Amino acid sequence: MDSEQLREYGHRMVDFIADYYKTIETFPVRSQPGYLHNLLPDSAPDHPETLEQVLDDVKVKILPGVTHWQSPSFFAYYPSNSSVAGFLGEMLSTGLNVIGFSWVASPAATELEIIVLDWLAKLLNLPEQFLSKGKGGGVIQGSASEAILVVMIAARDKVLRTAGKNALGKLVVYSSDQTHSALQKACQIAGIHPENWRVLKADTSTNYALRPELLQEAVSRDLEAGLIPFFLCGNVGTTSSTAVDPLAALGKIAKVDTSFSNEMWFHVDAAYAGNACICPEYRQYIDGVETADSFNMNAYKGLLTNFDCSLLWVKDQYAVTEAFSANPEYLKNKASEANLVVDYKDWQIALSRRFRSLKLWMVLRLYGAETLKSYIRNHIKLAKVFEQLVSQDPNFEVITPRIFSLVCFRIVPIDNDEKKCNSRNLELLEAVNSSGKLFISHTALSGKMVLRFSIGAPLTEQKHVKEAWKVIQEEASYLLGK
Ligand code: PLP
Repeated sequence: MDSEQLREYGHRMVDFIADYYKTIETFPVRSQPGYLHNLLPDSAPDHPETLEQVLDDVKVKILPGVTHWQSPSFFAYYPSNSSVAGFLGEMLSTGLNVIGFSWVASPAATELEIIVLDWLAKLLNLPEQFLSKGKGGGVIQGSASEAILVVMIAARDKVLRTAGKNALGKLVVYSSDQTHSALQKACQIAGIHPENWRVLKADTSTNYALRPELLQEAVSRDLEAGLIPFFLCGNVGTTSSTAVDPLAALGKIAKVDTSFSNEMWFHVDAAYAGNACICPEYRQYIDGVETADSFNMNAYKGLLTNFDCSLLWVKDQYAVTEAFSANPEYLKNKASEANLVVDYKDWQIALSRRFRSLKLWMVLRLYGAETLKSYIRNHIKLAKVFEQLVSQDPNFEVITPRIFSLVCFRIVPIDNDEKKCNSRNLELLEAVNSSGKLFISHTALSGKMVLRFSIGAPLTEQKHVKEAWKVIQEEASYLLGK
C-alpha cells in the first residue's frame, strides 16, 4: 500500500462518488441489462492503466448499467441505505483490512462488534438474554439469509444431540407462506426433508400474518405422527406486505404447548421492519420476542448503514458455536483455549470476516439514536402521504393495511375481472419502471398482482413521492384509456 497514492487516488475517488450523489437524480433509476459484454475486453489488462481511464469507463460503461438504489426515486424491494457515516466506516474497515475471525486475529474487531450489538439490542429493548453478558449475544452476518441458516443449523444440531443423528428425516420446520425464501434455502442446505416444511397459509383477512391456531394444529398433527417440530420462523415485516406475526402467541406454542421434550427453536425474522422497532411507538411489533431464541434485522435496510450489515442475536451462543466451531492447529491460541474470548468464526459459515462493526459504530456515534429514529419516522410519514394519494384515486386501491413505510396497492379490477386486472398492473409496473423516473417492484397476494411502493432511500423527500405518484397516475390513465 503506497500511502501517498492512496491519499491522491482516495481524494479523487471521494470526489467521484460525491459527484455521483450530486447528480444521482439525472440517471434513469432502473438500468437496461445485458449490454456490458460488448463494451469491455475479453481478458484482464497485462499492464497497469490509469485511474482516469478506469473512472472514465465507470462513467461511460458502468453507470449506465447501474440501478440506482440510492436514488431518491428508488421505491423497489426494500431499501439499502447509505450515509456519510456508513461510508466512512466502510472506508475505515477497508482501509484497515483486518480479518477478525478469532479474537486474537484482531481483538478490537471482536470487542467492538460485541459492544455495538449490545447497544443495538438495548435500543430495540430486546430481552437481557440476548445481551453479551450472559449466554447470549449478537453477531454481524453478511445477510439475513446467512443469519437464518446459522440459527437453523444450530437448532438442528441441538435437537439431533438429543434425538440422535438418524432423526434428521423427522425434523419439521414451520412458517407462514409469507416467509422470505431465505427460510426455504436454509431448509435445503440444512437437509430438512422437503415434506417436512410446513408452509402455513397466512391470514388473508388481516395483513397476512400467521395464525397461531394453524400452527398449533400442524404441530399437534406432526407430534401424533411421530415427527419432531424443531424450528419455527416468525416474521416481523414480511417481504410482500410487512405482515407481523403474533410473536407471543407463536412463542407460547413453540415453547410451552409442544409436548415434545425438545422445545422448538423460535426464530424471528425482522430483516426490514426490525429497524423501525428502535422507535418506542413501533417496539410493540416485536412484543413477544422474549419467547424467541434468536432475532435478526438488517441494519443496512433502514439504519443508514451501508451494505452489508445484518444483525443476529441469540440467547444461547453455545448452541451456535457447538454447530459451527472448528479449531485446527493453525488457529489455536491461548485466549481461545482458555475460553476467555468470543471467536466469531464459530458464529458463522466462513472463517474470515470483515470489520463491519466499525460502520455501525460510526453511524451510531455520528448520528445518535434520536436522529435514526427521526429518519425512520420520516419515511413512515412519507409512506402515509403516498397511501393517502392512492386512497383518493378511484382507479386505485391500497391492498393491505400499511404499517411501516411500504404501501401495497394496485389498479382496481374492472367488472371483477381479476385476470385482466393482474396483467394491467404488470403493464403499469413495466411502463412506470421503463420511464426511468422511478423504480417500484411487485408481489402477489392471494393471486392478486400487487405493486409495492417502498420508501426508505436516504435522499427521498415528499416531492419525490408526489412526483412518483404523478408518473404512476399518468401511466395508469394511458393504460386505462382515460
Ligand atoms: N427476510 C426478509 C423479511 C426480507 O425482506 C429479506 C430481504 O429483503 C430477507 C429476509 C433476506 O435478506 P438478505 O438479502 O439480507 O439475505
